[in-house]
Amino acid sequence: MGKMIAVANQKGGVGKTTTAINLSACLADFGYKVLLVDSDPQGNATSGLGFYADQIQKCIYDGLVDQAAISELVLPTSMGNLSLLPSAIRLAGAELELTTVAEREFRMRKLLSPARSFYDYIFIDCPPSLSLLTINALTAVDSLLIPIQSEFYALEGVAQLMNTVNLVKTSFNPKLQLEGIVMTMYDGRTNLSVQVENEVRKHFGDKVYQTIIPRNVRLSEAPSFGQSVLQYDRKSKGAEEYLKFAREVAKK
Ligand code: ATP
Ligand code: MG
Repeated sequence: MGKMIAVANQKGGVGKTTTAINLSACLADFGYKVLLVDSDPQGNATSGLGFYADQIQKCIYDGLVDQAAISELVLPTSMGNLSLLPSAIRLAGAELELTTVAEREFRMRKLLSPARSFYDYIFIDCPPSLSLLTINALTAVDSLLIPIQSEFYALEGVAQLMNTVNLVKTSFNPKLQLEGIVMTMYDGRTNLSVQVENEVRKHFGDKVYQTIIPRNVRLSEAPSFGQSVLQYDRKSKGAEEYLKFAREVAKK
């Protein structure tokens, strides 16, 4: 049975999608079968893996709103072991369309559950909000991975995120766990990054991964080529650290 993990933080631009894509790619590279679920109407994980909006006929919207089967939605990617459940801007309408639906928090769980027998890992890239889509993701998964950007307001909003996690635990998914915290966009030359790391480690203890993702230009260039950093520049520092990080995740 595959493990399902949501990559979430309602703060925008902290490295959720970069982490979801590259962690998925690294685990696929190790030989695991991986499904990356794009649950953000922005569709950054979809475009980051090389799919253009006009290539997407059916997406996660069809699964959540019209209850299309997951087998109709999943696409193979240029990496053998990695599949994608794509998103499109249409997904932005799903929230509204689901408001009056019974058990609306469980649509993603229903959609993704069958995938557990086909994949070793299923990652959900969440949008930057604590909306119904994120609640659906947290209701579907075993655990939550939180990327935290190494900058001044790093912990801003994390308390609110943990409140939402507790709400979901109480109401929809009692088994939900914190998988871990990964520090992103770290710049070891600045005191600030070091201070933020200390603060995050003080707050979350051994839930924080040893590996820290550095700020690395290759990581920001790769998506515009529709590639993971492994495909784009395997020798880069960004690739090296995501590989290390993925080994830590796989060990658990
Ligand atoms: P959103 O909240 O909009 O979904 P996000 O949390 O998914 O954003 P990303 O899209 O992964 O964040 O990253 C935000 C921006 O920072 C992107 O342009 C990305 O390429 C860049 N970026 C992410 N991680 C790194 C890194 N380690 N080094 C350099 N650039 C990075
Ligand atoms: Mg994103």
